Amino acid sequence: MTLLDVARARHDTPGCAEVVHLNNAGAALPPAPVLDAVIGHLRLEARLGGYEAAAAAAVKVDAVYEAIARLIGCLPGEIAVVENATRAWDMAFYALRFKPGDRILTSRAEYASNVIAFLQVARRTGLRVEVVDDDEHGQLSVRDLERRLDGDVKLVAVTHVPTQSGLVNPAAEIGRLTRAAGVPFLLDACQSVGQLPVDVRELGCDLLSATGRKFLRGPRGTGFLYVSERLADTLEPPFLDLHAAIWTSHDAYEIRPGARRFENWETNYAAKIGLGVAVDYALSWGVEAIEERVTALAARLRRRLGELPRVTVQDHGQRLCGIVTFTVDGESAADVHHRLGAAGINTSVSAVTSARYDLGGRGLAAVVRASVHYYNTDEEIDALCANLQY
Ligand SMILES: *Cc1c(COP(=O)(O)O)cnc(C)c1O
Repeated sequence: MTLLDVARARHDTPGCAEVVHLNNAGAALPPAPVLDAVIGHLRLEARLGGYEAAAAAAVKVDAVYEAIARLIGCLPGEIAVVENATRAWDMAFYALRFKPGDRILTSRAEYASNVIAFLQVARRTGLRVEVVDDDEHGQLSVRDLERRLDGDVKLVAVTHVPTQSGLVNPAAEIGRLTRAAGVPFLLDACQSVGQLPVDVRELGCDLLSATGRKFLRGPRGTGFLYVSERLADTLEPPFLDLHAAIWTSHDAYEIRPGARRFENWETNYAAKIGLGVAVDYALSWGVEAIEERVTALAARLRRRLGELPRVTVQDHGQRLCGIVTFTVDGESAADVHHRLGAAGINTSVSAVTSARYDLGGRGLAAVVRASVHYYNTDEEIDALCANLQY
């Protein structure tokens, strides 16, 4: 494994000179090539006109799909580029049809927006939402999933890496079970894409959602949906427009083939081009090398936090990633976050309302989240810990 050139990574990242950025699970610092691509396209729009700039940049726009396809091991036609991961996930989820008695299996780690959508559709249709147990490590129990997977299960929807802890759920094992059972598998890969290898064929998922701004280091307001070729043309998107479908005669339309039926017409071209550049930039480092560096930094941070008397590390799971969560005795997560912010250290707070099945189940109202990326350093981790020395 090649050692990642951290000095070059920091040199490429203007924000590294300004802040200690440990909020990469919120929005990572973009590298200069992403910034240049976005600003460059905005300038082109201002000079030529928006439509004319999009036409002039058509090759770059196509390259976005090719880059994402290389990143997650699929075909460019299996990708829809949309505004964010939530919209991507929703377009897939609300395309599925449920009837009373159908069941959805999900994880304790599940993200609030996903659960809210389950509950809305459950109210409308009478489907049942079941939360699969965790195993003794705190990850989704593959055995419990297998036990629950029967003919009434119409969807398995799992969060790969949750927003609120360092856990990596065993997605490939889940994919093996859903494939064997013939049940669609929707993977929320919002926090895993960009920080660890995600290959849709290896994971066996049929649908996958991700965002641009987190570990991929892309612009805000970008995301994408993977829909397997096998499934795409069988799914009717919840919204259609003149990009997702063609008005073919007075009272008829045809839905576009492939994943792009999940897109809509108007888009932020500058951000979309920036997303493609961010993906290429991640691939230029190598996602394996990124994971190795991120995992090592996070392990160091957990170890250091574990030595501090009032601090409790709250991560659990067999395989851990770059998200580190903790609580401090006698100081609320929000107060810790604000105090660190005043010292120039960016972190964030995960509250129970983001992850009720998980944090609620563990009796935690909120945790502080410090999420590292490969451009962070040991010195930055030490700076965080120095501020937690009570
Ligand atoms: C951030 C996050 C989302 C939502 O992503 P957006 O791009 O903000 O829509 C979904 N799932 C998980 C696990 C997340 O952490």
